[in-house]
Amino acid sequence: MNQLHEFTSEPMIAYFSMEIGIKTDIPTYSGGLGVLAGDTIKSAADLKLPMVGVTLLSRKGYFNQEIDANGWQLEKPVAWDPARYMTLLPEKVKVPIEGRHVYIQAWVYPVISPTGGKVPILFLDTDLPENAPADRGITDYLYGGDLNYRIKQEVVLGMGGVRMLHALEFHIKKYHMNEGHAAFLALELLLRFKRDIESVWDERSVWDVARVRDLCVFTTHTPVEAGHDKFPYPLVKQVLGELIPIEVLRDIAGKDHLNMTLLALNLSKYINGVAKKHGEVSQHMFPGYHIHAITNGVHTFTWTCEDMAKLFDKYIPGWANEPELFVRSGNIPELELWEAHREAKRKLFDYVHQTTGIAMDLNVLTFGFARRATAYKRPHLLFSDIERLLKINEKGRLQIIYAGKAHPHDDPGKKLIQGIYRYREQLRGKVEIAFLPGYNMDIALKLVSGVDVWLNTPLRPLEASGTSGMKAAHNGVPNFSVLDGWWIEGHIEGFTGWSIGALSSETGNLAASDAEDAADLYNKLENLVIPKYYDPNKAGWSRMMRNAISKNAYYFNSHRMMRRYVTEAYIR
Ligand SMILES: *Cc1c(COP(=O)(O)O)cnc(C)c1O
Repeated sequence: MNQLHEFTSEPMIAYFSMEIGIKTDIPTYSGGLGVLAGDTIKSAADLKLPMVGVTLLSRKGYFNQEIDANGWQLEKPVAWDPARYMTLLPEKVKVPIEGRHVYIQAWVYPVISPTGGKVPILFLDTDLPENAPADRGITDYLYGGDLNYRIKQEVVLGMGGVRMLHALEFHIKKYHMNEGHAAFLALELLLRFKRDIESVWDERSVWDVARVRDLCVFTTHTPVEAGHDKFPYPLVKQVLGELIPIEVLRDIAGKDHLNMTLLALNLSKYINGVAKKHGEVSQHMFPGYHIHAITNGVHTFTWTCEDMAKLFDKYIPGWANEPELFVRSGNIPELELWEAHREAKRKLFDYVHQTTGIAMDLNVLTFGFARRATAYKRPHLLFSDIERLLKINEKGRLQIIYAGKAHPHDDPGKKLIQGIYRYREQLRGKVEIAFLPGYNMDIALKLVSGVDVWLNTPLRPLEASGTSGMKAAHNGVPNFSVLDGWWIEGHIEGFTGWSIGALSSETGNLAASDAEDAADLYNKLENLVIPKYYDPNKAGWSRMMRNAISKNAYYFNSHRMMRRYVTEAYIR
Protein backbone atom coordinates (compact mmCIF):
# COMPACT_ATOMS: atom_id res chain seq x y z
CA MET A 1 0.00 0.00 0.00
CA ASN A 2 1.38 3.43 -0.90
CA GLN A 3 0.73 6.97 0.29
CA LEU A 4 -1.99 7.48 -2.29
CA HIS A 5 -4.07 4.46 -1.35
CA GLU A 6 -7.07 6.68 -0.54
CA PHE A 7 -7.30 7.33 -4.28
CA THR A 8 -6.75 3.84 -5.61
CA SER A 9 -9.96 2.13 -4.54
CA GLU A 10 -12.15 3.60 -7.29
CA PRO A 11 -11.54 4.03 -11.04
CA MET A 12 -10.12 7.47 -11.85
CA ILE A 13 -9.80 9.87 -14.73
CA ALA A 14 -6.15 10.64 -15.44
CA TYR A 15 -5.70 14.19 -16.69
CA PHE A 16 -2.38 14.68 -18.49
CA SER A 17 -1.03 18.12 -19.27
CA MET A 18 2.46 19.40 -20.09
CA GLU A 19 1.75 22.36 -17.81
CA ILE A 20 -0.54 22.86 -14.84
CA GLY A 21 -0.98 26.24 -13.17
CA ILE A 22 -2.37 26.08 -9.65
CA LYS A 23 -0.95 29.28 -8.23
CA THR A 24 1.80 31.79 -8.87
CA ASP A 25 4.19 30.22 -6.36
CA ILE A 26 4.25 26.93 -8.28
CA PRO A 27 5.68 28.12 -11.62
CA THR A 28 4.87 24.99 -13.64
CA TYR A 29 2.84 26.83 -16.28
CA SER A 30 3.44 29.29 -19.08
CA GLY A 31 -0.01 30.60 -19.93
CA GLY A 32 -3.58 29.79 -20.90
CA LEU A 33 -3.18 26.03 -21.38
CA GLY A 34 -1.64 25.51 -17.95
CA VAL A 35 -4.03 27.80 -16.14
CA LEU A 36 -6.95 26.01 -17.76
CA ALA A 37 -5.50 22.69 -16.60
CA GLY A 38 -5.27 24.05 -13.06
CA ASP A 39 -8.84 25.35 -13.20
CA THR A 40 -9.97 21.95 -14.51
CA ILE A 41 -8.42 20.18 -11.55
CA LYS A 42 -9.76 22.70 -9.01
CA SER A 43 -13.29 22.24 -10.32
CA ALA A 44 -12.84 18.47 -10.33
CA ALA A 45 -11.87 18.71 -6.65
CA ASP A 46 -14.85 20.99 -5.82
CA LEU A 47 -17.20 18.58 -7.61
CA LYS A 48 -15.55 15.55 -6.00
CA LEU A 49 -14.76 13.96 -9.34
CA PRO A 50 -12.40 10.97 -9.21
CA MET A 51 -9.44 12.54 -10.99
CA VAL A 52 -5.66 12.48 -10.83
CA GLY A 53 -3.49 15.03 -12.63
CA VAL A 54 -0.16 14.21 -14.30
CA THR A 55 2.37 16.82 -15.40
CA LEU A 56 6.08 17.66 -15.38
CA LEU A 57 7.84 19.21 -12.40
CA SER A 58 9.49 21.98 -14.47
CA ARG A 59 12.14 22.55 -11.80
CA LYS A 60 13.33 25.70 -13.54
CA GLY A 61 9.84 26.87 -14.50
CA TYR A 62 9.13 28.69 -17.75
CA PHE A 63 11.08 31.92 -17.16
CA ASN A 64 10.93 35.17 -15.24
CA GLN A 65 10.39 38.10 -17.52
CA GLU A 66 12.40 41.27 -17.19
CA ILE A 67 12.32 44.14 -19.64
CA ASP A 68 15.50 46.13 -20.31
CA ALA A 69 15.83 49.87 -20.98
CA ASN A 70 15.09 49.26 -24.67
CA GLY A 71 11.85 47.45 -24.01
CA TRP A 72 13.49 44.12 -24.86
CA GLN A 73 12.39 40.99 -22.96
CA LEU A 74 15.06 39.20 -20.94
CA GLU A 75 14.45 35.68 -19.70
CA LYS A 76 15.67 34.99 -16.19
CA PRO A 77 15.74 31.54 -14.61
CA VAL A 78 13.10 30.67 -12.06
CA ALA A 79 14.18 29.18 -8.76
CA TRP A 80 11.64 27.33 -6.68
CA ASP A 81 11.69 24.52 -4.19
CA PRO A 82 9.16 21.73 -4.84
CA ALA A 83 9.68 20.42 -1.30
CA ARG A 84 7.97 23.53 0.07
CA TYR A 85 4.68 22.54 -1.55
CA MET A 86 4.82 18.85 -2.43
CA THR A 87 5.74 15.44 -1.15
CA LEU A 88 8.19 13.21 -2.98
CA LEU A 89 6.84 9.68 -3.38
CA PRO A 90 9.32 6.81 -3.03
CA GLU A 91 8.14 4.84 -6.10
CA LYS A 92 10.40 4.95 -9.15
CA VAL A 93 9.60 4.00 -12.73
CA LYS A 94 11.76 4.08 -15.82
CA VAL A 95 11.31 4.84 -19.51
CA PRO A 96 13.67 3.94 -22.36
CA ILE A 97 15.36 6.97 -23.93
CA GLU A 98 18.22 6.63 -26.45
CA GLY A 99 18.84 3.10 -25.20
CA ARG A 100 19.26 4.23 -21.59
CA HIS A 101 16.86 3.83 -18.72
CA VAL A 102 15.63 7.18 -17.49
CA TYR A 103 14.26 6.96 -13.96
CA ILE A 104 11.31 9.05 -12.84
CA GLN A 105 9.94 9.91 -9.44
CA ALA A 106 6.77 11.85 -8.67
CA TRP A 107 6.00 14.69 -6.31
CA VAL A 108 2.42 14.79 -5.20
CA TYR A 109 0.43 17.95 -4.64
CA PRO A 110 -3.13 17.47 -3.44
CA VAL A 111 -5.64 20.06 -4.58
CA ILE A 112 -8.08 20.18 -1.67
CA SER A 113 -11.47 21.82 -2.03
CA PRO A 114 -13.52 23.36 0.80
CA THR A 115 -16.19 20.83 -0.25
CA GLY A 116 -13.90 18.03 0.93
CA GLY A 117 -13.06 16.93 -2.62
CA LYS A 118 -9.42 16.14 -3.31
CA VAL A 119 -7.46 15.70 -6.54
CA PRO A 120 -3.80 14.69 -6.39
CA ILE A 121 -1.43 16.02 -9.03
CA LEU A 122 1.69 14.04 -9.86
CA PHE A 123 4.65 16.20 -10.88
CA LEU A 124 7.14 13.97 -12.69
CA ASP A 125 10.82 14.53 -11.96
CA THR A 126 13.92 13.02 -13.63
CA ASP A 127 16.46 14.78 -11.42
CA LEU A 128 17.55 11.52 -9.74
CA PRO A 129 21.09 10.34 -8.99
CA GLU A 130 20.48 7.18 -11.09
CA ASN A 131 20.18 9.28 -14.24
CA ALA A 132 22.91 10.57 -16.57
CA PRO A 133 23.50 14.31 -16.03
CA ALA A 134 21.67 15.34 -19.23
CA ASP A 135 18.69 13.15 -18.37
CA ARG A 136 18.45 14.75 -14.94
CA GLY A 137 17.55 17.99 -16.71
CA ILE A 138 14.69 16.61 -18.84
CA THR A 139 12.05 17.94 -16.46
CA ASP A 140 13.76 21.34 -15.89
CA TYR A 141 12.50 23.82 -18.47
CA LEU A 142 8.89 24.10 -19.56
CA TYR A 143 8.87 24.49 -23.36
CA GLY A 144 12.65 24.94 -23.28
CA GLY A 145 15.33 23.46 -25.50
CA ASP A 146 15.07 21.96 -28.97
CA LEU A 147 13.01 19.16 -30.55
CA ASN A 148 15.31 16.56 -29.04
CA TYR A 149 14.67 17.95 -25.54
CA ARG A 150 10.94 18.26 -26.21
CA ILE A 151 10.46 14.67 -27.37
CA LYS A 152 12.24 13.40 -24.26
CA GLN A 153 9.99 15.53 -22.08
CA GLU A 154 6.96 14.15 -23.84
CA VAL A 155 8.16 10.57 -23.43
CA VAL A 156 8.56 11.22 -19.71
CA LEU A 157 5.12 12.83 -19.49
CA GLY A 158 3.17 10.31 -21.58
CA MET A 159 4.90 6.97 -21.10
CA GLY A 160 6.41 7.83 -17.73
CA GLY A 161 3.08 9.15 -16.49
CA VAL A 162 1.20 5.96 -17.34
CA ARG A 163 3.94 3.85 -15.78
CA MET A 164 3.86 5.96 -12.61
CA LEU A 165 0.08 5.65 -12.29
CA HIS A 166 0.49 1.92 -12.65
CA ALA A 167 3.25 1.75 -10.06
CA LEU A 168 1.03 3.69 -7.66
CA GLU A 169 -1.79 1.18 -8.29
CA PHE A 170 -4.27 3.66 -9.72
CA HIS A 171 -7.19 2.20 -11.70
CA ILE A 172 -7.67 4.48 -14.66
CA LYS A 173 -10.95 4.45 -16.58
CA LYS A 174 -10.13 7.37 -18.90
CA TYR A 175 -6.96 9.10 -19.96
CA HIS A 176 -7.51 12.73 -20.90
CA MET A 177 -4.82 14.33 -23.05
CA ASN A 178 -4.86 18.07 -22.56
CA GLU A 179 -3.28 18.96 -25.92
CA GLY A 180 -1.11 16.65 -28.05
CA HIS A 181 1.99 16.94 -25.83
CA ALA A 182 0.67 14.04 -23.77
CA ALA A 183 -0.10 11.68 -26.67
CA PHE A 184 2.74 9.26 -25.93
CA LEU A 185 0.51 8.02 -23.14
CA ALA A 186 -1.52 6.31 -25.85
CA LEU A 187 1.62 4.60 -27.20
CA GLU A 188 2.33 3.30 -23.72
CA LEU A 189 -1.21 1.91 -23.57
CA LEU A 190 -0.69 0.25 -26.98
CA LEU A 191 2.40 -1.46 -25.58
CA ARG A 192 0.53 -2.45 -22.46
CA PHE A 193 -2.33 -4.05 -24.38
CA LYS A 194 -0.17 -5.66 -27.04
CA ARG A 195 -1.76 -8.96 -28.01
CA ASP A 196 0.31 -12.00 -27.38
CA ILE A 197 -0.29 -13.87 -30.63
CA GLU A 198 2.29 -16.37 -31.85
CA SER A 199 1.82 -16.33 -35.57
CA VAL A 200 -0.28 -13.64 -37.15
CA TRP A 201 -0.70 -13.05 -40.83
CA ASP A 202 -1.03 -9.33 -40.24
CA GLU A 203 1.64 -8.11 -37.84
CA ARG A 204 -0.38 -5.01 -37.13
CA SER A 205 -3.12 -7.02 -35.46
CA VAL A 206 -1.01 -7.34 -32.32
CA TRP A 207 -1.77 -3.65 -31.62
CA ASP A 208 -5.15 -3.29 -29.96
CA VAL A 209 -5.95 0.21 -31.20
CA ALA A 210 -9.66 -0.10 -30.40
CA ARG A 211 -9.00 -0.84 -26.76
CA VAL A 212 -6.70 2.17 -26.42
CA ARG A 213 -9.20 4.44 -28.19
CA ASP A 214 -11.92 3.41 -25.76
CA LEU A 215 -9.79 4.72 -22.92
CA CYS A 216 -8.65 8.02 -24.40
CA VAL A 217 -10.05 11.53 -24.60
CA PHE A 218 -8.23 14.25 -26.51
CA THR A 219 -8.68 18.00 -26.29
CA THR A 220 -7.04 20.06 -29.02
CA HIS A 221 -6.33 23.68 -28.09
CA THR A 222 -5.14 25.65 -31.06
CA PRO A 223 -5.52 25.97 -34.82
CA VAL A 224 -2.05 27.58 -34.94
CA GLU A 225 0.24 25.20 -36.82
CA ALA A 226 3.27 25.77 -34.54
CA GLY A 227 1.19 24.58 -31.61
CA HIS A 228 1.19 21.00 -32.94
CA ASP A 229 4.39 19.13 -32.12
CA LYS A 230 5.96 17.16 -34.96
CA PHE A 231 9.05 15.01 -34.64
CA PRO A 232 11.13 13.63 -37.57
CA TYR A 233 11.16 9.82 -37.59
CA PRO A 234 14.97 9.57 -37.38
CA LEU A 235 14.72 11.47 -34.10
CA VAL A 236 11.88 9.25 -32.91
CA LYS A 237 13.98 6.22 -33.72
CA GLN A 238 17.02 7.65 -31.97
CA VAL A 239 15.02 8.35 -28.80
CA LEU A 240 12.56 5.46 -28.66
CA GLY A 241 14.41 2.83 -30.68
CA GLU A 242 12.07 0.21 -32.11
CA LEU A 243 9.79 0.15 -29.10
CA ILE A 244 6.96 0.37 -31.56
CA PRO A 245 7.86 -0.33 -35.19
CA ILE A 246 8.19 2.88 -37.21
CA GLU A 247 5.77 1.49 -39.86
CA VAL A 248 3.10 1.22 -37.20
CA LEU A 249 3.81 4.77 -36.08
CA ARG A 250 3.58 6.02 -39.66
CA ASP A 251 0.10 4.54 -39.82
CA ILE A 252 -1.17 6.25 -36.72
CA ALA A 253 0.94 9.39 -36.36
CA GLY A 254 1.66 10.65 -39.87
CA LYS A 255 3.71 9.56 -42.86
CA ASP A 256 6.50 12.15 -42.83
CA HIS A 257 6.70 13.18 -39.21
CA LEU A 258 5.42 11.84 -35.96
CA ASN A 259 2.64 14.35 -35.43
CA MET A 260 1.49 14.33 -31.81
CA THR A 261 -1.93 15.70 -32.75
CA LEU A 262 -2.50 12.92 -35.28
CA LEU A 263 -1.35 10.36 -32.77
CA ALA A 264 -3.87 11.69 -30.26
CA LEU A 265 -6.64 11.91 -32.87
CA ASN A 266 -6.13 8.32 -33.98
CA LEU A 267 -5.98 6.89 -30.50
CA SER A 268 -8.89 8.76 -28.89
CA LYS A 269 -12.56 7.93 -29.04
CA TYR A 270 -13.71 11.35 -27.91
CA ILE A 271 -12.08 14.47 -29.37
CA ASN A 272 -13.01 18.07 -28.73
CA GLY A 273 -12.15 21.68 -29.42
CA VAL A 274 -12.41 24.34 -26.71
CA ALA A 275 -15.21 26.56 -28.07
CA LYS A 276 -17.99 25.94 -30.59
CA LYS A 277 -16.21 27.84 -33.34
CA HIS A 278 -12.92 26.13 -32.55
CA GLY A 279 -14.70 22.77 -32.83
CA GLU A 280 -15.75 23.71 -36.37
CA VAL A 281 -12.32 25.03 -37.30
CA SER A 282 -10.71 21.84 -35.98
CA GLN A 283 -13.24 19.73 -37.87
CA HIS A 284 -12.05 21.51 -41.02
CA MET A 285 -8.41 20.90 -40.16
CA PHE A 286 -8.96 17.23 -39.40
CA PRO A 287 -11.62 15.87 -41.72
CA GLY A 288 -12.31 12.23 -41.08
CA TYR A 289 -12.47 12.64 -37.31
CA HIS A 290 -15.54 13.62 -35.37
CA ILE A 291 -14.61 16.73 -33.40
CA HIS A 292 -16.92 17.79 -30.60
CA ALA A 293 -16.79 21.09 -28.74
CA ILE A 294 -16.74 21.84 -25.03
CA THR A 295 -16.28 25.52 -24.43
CA ASN A 296 -13.68 26.40 -21.82
CA GLY A 297 -14.48 27.94 -18.48
CA VAL A 298 -12.47 29.40 -15.60
CA HIS A 299 -12.45 28.45 -11.94
CA THR A 300 -14.92 30.86 -10.38
CA PHE A 301 -13.41 31.18 -6.91
CA THR A 302 -9.82 31.52 -8.19
CA TRP A 303 -10.72 34.24 -10.67
CA THR A 304 -12.96 36.41 -8.52
CA CYS A 305 -11.11 39.21 -6.71
CA GLU A 306 -11.54 39.80 -3.00
CA ASP A 307 -13.79 42.82 -3.31
CA MET A 308 -16.19 41.09 -5.70
CA ALA A 309 -16.14 37.91 -3.62
CA LYS A 310 -17.32 39.91 -0.59
CA LEU A 311 -20.17 41.34 -2.62
CA PHE A 312 -21.14 37.92 -3.97
CA ASP A 313 -21.04 36.44 -0.46
CA LYS A 314 -23.54 39.09 0.58
CA TYR A 315 -25.98 38.86 -2.34
CA ILE A 316 -25.39 35.43 -3.92
CA PRO A 317 -24.34 33.09 -1.10
CA GLY A 318 -23.05 29.76 -2.40
CA TRP A 319 -21.80 31.31 -5.69
CA ALA A 320 -18.29 29.83 -5.53
CA ASN A 321 -19.30 26.20 -5.80
CA GLU A 322 -22.48 26.89 -7.75
CA PRO A 323 -21.74 29.59 -10.31
CA GLU A 324 -25.20 29.02 -11.84
CA LEU A 325 -26.38 31.24 -9.00
CA PHE A 326 -24.93 34.19 -10.90
CA VAL A 327 -28.25 34.12 -12.71
CA ARG A 328 -29.40 36.08 -9.64
CA SER A 329 -26.85 38.90 -10.08
CA GLY A 330 -29.77 41.26 -10.56
CA ASN A 331 -29.94 41.35 -6.75
CA ILE A 332 -26.63 43.20 -6.50
CA PRO A 333 -27.26 46.94 -6.13
CA GLU A 334 -25.62 48.93 -8.92
CA LEU A 335 -23.86 51.34 -6.62
CA GLU A 336 -22.28 48.59 -4.52
CA LEU A 337 -21.07 46.82 -7.65
CA TRP A 338 -19.48 50.01 -8.89
CA GLU A 339 -17.85 50.63 -5.51
CA ALA A 340 -16.41 47.10 -5.34
CA HIS A 341 -14.96 47.59 -8.79
CA ARG A 342 -13.46 50.97 -7.84
CA GLU A 343 -11.73 49.28 -4.93
CA ALA A 344 -10.22 46.61 -7.20
CA LYS A 345 -9.17 49.36 -9.61
CA ARG A 346 -7.48 51.28 -6.79
CA LYS A 347 -5.53 48.16 -5.77
CA LEU A 348 -4.42 47.53 -9.35
CA PHE A 349 -3.28 51.13 -9.76
CA ASP A 350 -1.29 50.91 -6.51
CA TYR A 351 0.44 47.85 -7.91
CA VAL A 352 1.10 49.56 -11.25
CA HIS A 353 2.61 52.52 -9.41
CA GLN A 354 4.78 50.32 -7.21
CA THR A 355 6.16 48.25 -10.07
CA THR A 356 6.44 50.77 -12.92
CA GLY A 357 6.35 54.18 -11.24
CA ILE A 358 3.45 55.13 -13.51
CA ALA A 359 0.57 56.92 -11.79
CA MET A 360 -2.74 56.16 -13.42
CA ASP A 361 -5.91 58.16 -12.90
CA LEU A 362 -8.76 56.38 -11.11
CA ASN A 363 -11.36 58.38 -13.00
CA VAL A 364 -10.08 57.50 -16.45
CA LEU A 365 -11.51 54.68 -18.58
CA THR A 366 -8.90 51.94 -18.38
CA PHE A 367 -8.36 49.07 -20.76
CA GLY A 368 -6.55 45.85 -19.97
CA PHE A 369 -4.75 43.66 -22.48
CA ALA A 370 -2.71 40.72 -21.20
CA ARG A 371 -1.88 37.46 -22.90
CA ARG A 372 1.02 35.73 -24.60
CA ALA A 373 2.83 38.28 -26.78
CA THR A 374 2.57 36.75 -30.22
CA ALA A 375 1.70 38.09 -33.65
CA TYR A 376 -1.83 36.70 -34.07
CA LYS A 377 -3.02 38.34 -30.85
CA ARG A 378 -2.39 41.76 -32.49
CA PRO A 379 -1.60 43.80 -29.38
CA HIS A 380 -0.91 46.82 -31.63
CA LEU A 381 -4.32 46.98 -33.26
CA LEU A 382 -5.33 49.80 -30.92
CA PHE A 383 -2.41 51.86 -32.23
CA SER A 384 -3.05 51.34 -35.96
CA ASP A 385 -4.07 54.99 -36.30
CA ILE A 386 -2.48 57.13 -33.61
CA GLU A 387 -4.09 60.35 -34.88
CA ARG A 388 -7.51 58.82 -34.56
CA LEU A 389 -6.74 57.40 -31.14
CA LEU A 390 -5.63 60.84 -29.90
CA LYS A 391 -8.79 62.47 -31.27
CA ILE A 392 -10.94 59.91 -29.52
CA ASN A 393 -8.92 60.47 -26.36
CA GLU A 394 -10.05 64.11 -26.41
CA LYS A 395 -13.69 63.00 -26.21
CA GLY A 396 -13.06 60.81 -23.21
CA ARG A 397 -9.69 59.94 -21.80
CA LEU A 398 -8.14 56.48 -22.02
CA GLN A 399 -5.45 54.49 -20.23
CA ILE A 400 -4.17 51.02 -21.06
CA ILE A 401 -2.35 48.40 -19.03
CA TYR A 402 -0.50 45.62 -20.82
CA ALA A 403 1.19 42.42 -19.70
CA GLY A 404 2.36 39.21 -21.34
CA LYS A 405 5.40 37.09 -22.07
CA ALA A 406 6.82 36.19 -25.46
CA HIS A 407 8.21 32.68 -25.93
CA PRO A 408 12.04 32.88 -25.62
CA HIS A 409 12.44 31.89 -29.29
CA ASP A 410 9.74 34.27 -30.56
CA ASP A 411 11.62 37.42 -31.59
CA PRO A 412 8.61 38.90 -33.41
CA GLY A 413 6.69 38.46 -30.13
CA LYS A 414 9.44 40.29 -28.23
CA LYS A 415 9.30 43.09 -30.81
CA LEU A 416 5.60 43.47 -30.03
CA ILE A 417 6.45 44.11 -26.38
CA GLN A 418 9.12 46.58 -27.44
CA GLY A 419 6.49 48.26 -29.59
CA ILE A 420 4.27 48.77 -26.53
CA TYR A 421 7.18 50.50 -24.78
CA ARG A 422 7.65 52.78 -27.80
CA TYR A 423 3.96 53.72 -27.83
CA ARG A 424 4.24 54.36 -24.12
CA GLU A 425 6.94 56.98 -24.76
CA GLN A 426 5.19 58.43 -27.76
CA LEU A 427 1.83 58.85 -26.02
CA ARG A 428 3.08 59.80 -22.55
CA GLY A 429 0.95 62.55 -21.00
CA LYS A 430 -1.88 61.83 -23.45
CA VAL A 431 -2.82 58.17 -23.39
CA GLU A 432 -1.06 56.68 -20.39
CA ILE A 433 0.26 53.17 -21.04
CA ALA A 434 1.78 50.76 -18.52
CA PHE A 435 3.39 47.40 -19.13
CA LEU A 436 3.54 45.06 -16.14
CA PRO A 437 6.52 42.68 -16.48
CA GLY A 438 6.37 39.06 -15.32
CA TYR A 439 2.76 38.23 -16.19
CA ASN A 440 1.56 35.45 -13.88
CA MET A 441 -1.66 34.32 -12.20
CA ASP A 442 -1.48 36.98 -9.44
CA ILE A 443 -1.02 39.79 -11.94
CA ALA A 444 -3.76 38.32 -14.11
CA LEU A 445 -6.29 38.50 -11.27
CA LYS A 446 -5.29 42.08 -10.41
CA LEU A 447 -5.64 43.09 -14.05
CA VAL A 448 -8.89 41.37 -15.01
CA SER A 449 -10.60 42.79 -11.91
CA GLY A 450 -9.05 46.26 -11.83
CA VAL A 451 -9.46 47.54 -15.39
CA ASP A 452 -12.78 48.83 -16.74
CA VAL A 453 -12.82 47.00 -20.05
CA TRP A 454 -11.02 43.85 -21.18
CA LEU A 455 -9.69 44.14 -24.71
CA ASN A 456 -8.90 41.24 -27.05
CA THR A 457 -8.01 41.63 -30.71
CA PRO A 458 -6.90 38.25 -32.12
CA LEU A 459 -6.78 37.46 -35.80
CA ARG A 460 -9.79 35.26 -36.58
CA PRO A 461 -10.08 32.28 -36.31
CA LEU A 462 -6.85 31.71 -34.41
CA GLU A 463 -8.05 32.34 -30.86
CA ALA A 464 -9.33 28.86 -30.04
CA SER A 465 -11.12 29.99 -26.90
CA GLY A 466 -9.32 32.58 -24.78
CA THR A 467 -10.02 32.54 -21.08
CA SER A 468 -8.84 35.87 -19.67
CA GLY A 469 -12.05 37.53 -20.86
CA MET A 470 -14.05 35.00 -18.81
CA LYS A 471 -11.98 35.97 -15.78
CA ALA A 472 -12.80 39.63 -16.43
CA ALA A 473 -16.52 38.79 -16.60
CA HIS A 474 -16.30 37.13 -13.18
CA ASN A 475 -15.30 40.54 -11.84
CA GLY A 476 -18.02 42.40 -13.68
CA VAL A 477 -15.61 43.69 -16.31
CA PRO A 478 -17.16 43.81 -19.78
CA ASN A 479 -15.26 42.54 -22.83
CA PHE A 480 -14.51 44.51 -25.97
CA SER A 481 -13.28 41.84 -28.35
CA VAL A 482 -12.97 40.41 -31.79
CA LEU A 483 -15.66 37.79 -32.42
CA ASP A 484 -13.53 34.71 -32.05
CA GLY A 485 -13.25 31.84 -29.58
CA TRP A 486 -15.53 32.04 -26.55
CA TRP A 487 -16.65 35.61 -27.24
CA ILE A 488 -18.77 34.44 -30.18
CA GLU A 489 -20.84 32.61 -27.57
CA GLY A 490 -20.57 35.14 -24.74
CA HIS A 491 -21.15 38.37 -26.63
CA ILE A 492 -24.48 40.18 -26.58
CA GLU A 493 -23.84 43.54 -28.20
CA GLY A 494 -24.11 46.46 -25.82
CA PHE A 495 -25.26 44.12 -23.07
CA THR A 496 -22.31 41.94 -21.99
CA GLY A 497 -19.76 44.08 -23.88
CA TRP A 498 -18.97 44.91 -27.49
CA SER A 499 -17.67 43.09 -30.54
CA ILE A 500 -14.89 44.24 -32.84
CA GLY A 501 -15.21 43.53 -36.57
CA ALA A 502 -17.31 41.01 -38.43
CA LEU A 503 -18.26 37.56 -37.24
CA SER A 504 -16.05 35.64 -39.61
CA SER A 505 -13.23 36.45 -41.97
CA GLU A 506 -11.45 33.16 -42.25
CA THR A 507 -11.16 33.52 -45.98
CA GLY A 508 -10.65 37.27 -46.19
CA ASN A 509 -7.17 38.65 -46.60
CA LEU A 510 -5.39 39.37 -43.38
CA ALA A 511 -4.25 42.93 -44.05
CA ALA A 512 -7.84 43.93 -44.86
CA SER A 513 -9.04 42.34 -41.66
CA ASP A 514 -6.55 44.47 -39.68
CA ALA A 515 -7.88 47.66 -41.23
CA GLU A 516 -11.55 46.69 -40.88
CA ASP A 517 -11.15 45.58 -37.30
CA ALA A 518 -9.23 48.72 -36.36
CA ALA A 519 -11.91 50.94 -37.91
CA ASP A 520 -14.66 49.15 -36.02
CA LEU A 521 -12.64 49.32 -32.81
CA TYR A 522 -12.23 53.09 -33.11
CA ASN A 523 -15.86 53.68 -34.07
CA LYS A 524 -17.24 51.73 -31.16
CA LEU A 525 -14.72 53.17 -28.75
CA GLU A 526 -15.71 56.70 -29.73
CA ASN A 527 -19.46 56.25 -30.08
CA LEU A 528 -20.40 53.54 -27.63
CA VAL A 529 -17.78 52.70 -25.02
CA ILE A 530 -16.63 56.21 -24.07
CA PRO A 531 -20.10 57.80 -23.91
CA LYS A 532 -21.38 54.96 -21.77
CA TYR A 533 -18.43 55.06 -19.40
CA TYR A 534 -18.41 58.81 -18.95
CA ASP A 535 -22.19 59.08 -18.52
CA PRO A 536 -22.46 60.85 -15.13
CA ASN A 537 -25.18 58.40 -14.19
CA LYS A 538 -23.15 55.23 -13.68
CA ALA A 539 -26.25 53.02 -13.59
CA GLY A 540 -25.95 52.09 -17.28
CA TRP A 541 -22.35 51.00 -16.89
CA SER A 542 -23.09 49.11 -13.68
CA ARG A 543 -25.92 47.24 -15.37
CA MET A 544 -23.49 46.15 -18.05
CA MET A 545 -21.12 44.93 -15.34
CA ARG A 546 -23.97 42.96 -13.83
CA ASN A 547 -24.79 41.43 -17.21
CA ALA A 548 -21.18 40.30 -17.60
CA ILE A 549 -21.64 38.37 -14.36
CA SER A 550 -25.14 37.01 -14.96
CA LYS A 551 -24.64 36.09 -18.61
CA ASN A 552 -20.90 35.38 -18.94
CA ALA A 553 -19.56 34.25 -15.55
CA TYR A 554 -22.77 32.25 -15.13
CA TYR A 555 -21.79 30.06 -18.07
CA PHE A 556 -18.06 30.40 -18.76
CA ASN A 557 -16.84 28.72 -15.59
CA SER A 558 -14.96 25.44 -15.20
CA HIS A 559 -17.71 23.82 -13.08
CA ARG A 560 -20.02 23.88 -16.10
CA MET A 561 -17.12 22.78 -18.30
CA MET A 562 -16.31 19.79 -16.09
CA ARG A 563 -19.93 18.67 -15.98
CA ARG A 564 -19.81 18.65 -19.77
CA TYR A 565 -16.60 16.61 -19.80
CA VAL A 566 -18.15 14.11 -17.41
CA THR A 567 -21.37 13.59 -19.34
CA GLU A 568 -19.94 13.85 -22.85
CA ALA A 569 -16.41 12.50 -22.65
CA TYR A 570 -15.69 10.60 -19.45
CA ILE A 571 -18.64 8.31 -18.85
CA ARG A 572 -18.90 7.07 -22.41
C1 LIG B 1 -5.73 33.26 -18.03
C2 LIG B 1 -4.28 33.40 -18.27
C3 LIG B 1 -3.78 33.29 -19.57
C4 LIG B 1 -4.66 33.02 -20.76
O1 LIG B 1 -5.23 34.21 -21.28
P1 LIG B 1 -5.88 34.18 -22.74
O2 LIG B 1 -6.78 35.32 -22.79
O3 LIG B 1 -6.62 32.89 -22.86
O4 LIG B 1 -4.77 34.26 -23.71
C5 LIG B 1 -2.42 33.42 -19.76
N1 LIG B 1 -1.58 33.66 -18.73
C6 LIG B 1 -2.03 33.78 -17.46
C7 LIG B 1 -1.06 34.04 -16.35
C8 LIG B 1 -3.39 33.65 -17.19
O5 LIG B 1 -3.84 33.78 -15.92
